[in-house]
Amino acid sequence: MRRPALLLLCALNTLLLSSTSLAATPGAASWCAAIGKRLGSVPPAECQSLGLQPAAGLSTRGHALMLRDFPPAAQKLAQRGKAPARATRIMMIGGIHGDELTSASIVFRWLRWLNEGESRQFHWRVIPVANPDGLLANPPQRVNGRGVDLNRNFPTPDWGSDAHAYWAKKTNKDPRRFPGEKAMSEPETQWLREEIERFRPDVVVSVHAPFGILDYDGPAHQPRRFGHLKLNRLGIYPGSLGNYGGVHKNMPVITIELPNATAMPSAREQRAIWDDMLTWIRRNVARKTTS
Ligand SMILES: [Zn+2]
Repeated sequence: MRRPALLLLCALNTLLLSSTSLAATPGAASWCAAIGKRLGSVPPAECQSLGLQPAAGLSTRGHALMLRDFPPAAQKLAQRGKAPARATRIMMIGGIHGDELTSASIVFRWLRWLNEGESRQFHWRVIPVANPDGLLANPPQRVNGRGVDLNRNFPTPDWGSDAHAYWAKKTNKDPRRFPGEKAMSEPETQWLREEIERFRPDVVVSVHAPFGILDYDGPAHQPRRFGHLKLNRLGIYPGSLGNYGGVHKNMPVITIELPNATAMPSAREQRAIWDDMLTWIRRNVARKTTS
């Protein structure tokens, strides 16, 4: 009597284990545990449920580089009458500066909303933590594990002539703004550029803090405000993602600067920014990609 029961238990265990290992993403458990310790609003179990997938490479300190691809709902595309060539593609990036904690937290929050009505018509590629070295450092730091400001390391045409000169003259060699020895020197920026090349987004949304404004680079009609964040052009920097994507790749780049790096906007404001962003994308980017 006992033996068959034991065998059955073993078989069940094997089944459970294999289905668990099929569902779980390798590396996600430890990554989510570390992220959950740093970001109070991202419990590890919830992080693990988001289906983030690791890239082939790692950060300079060996952290996984995680993303989630979220294809559009098929019926949403079919409902639009004439079939579009492809759904509008949106790449959303948080935490490129590791000490801007809310910029990662809010992308985790918005990841949970991708199942909702209007967002399902778009194809999303979401990177909640572009700089895990910075976010997981003690204390969190703007730069990556090698001390490079990733948002100054993109290969803009002016990088060779201007990036180091700008750093020396305008920032007085601020170590928090070091652009790297050369453009694309860092695994994180190499990865982000590869994802942009692979995915070919119609718009990039990059989240930062704490300036409390909206910035925009690129060809589409510029947004005026998302929630309480109003458009205020910060200017462009050698090696920044906005400069690289918006100015040189002719790809709209929205920079959302949340008002506080450690305190999240209210639930109402998180929703207002999200809703206004989707409306702007639908009116100014989606029409162009689907007509
Ligand atoms: Zn920033």
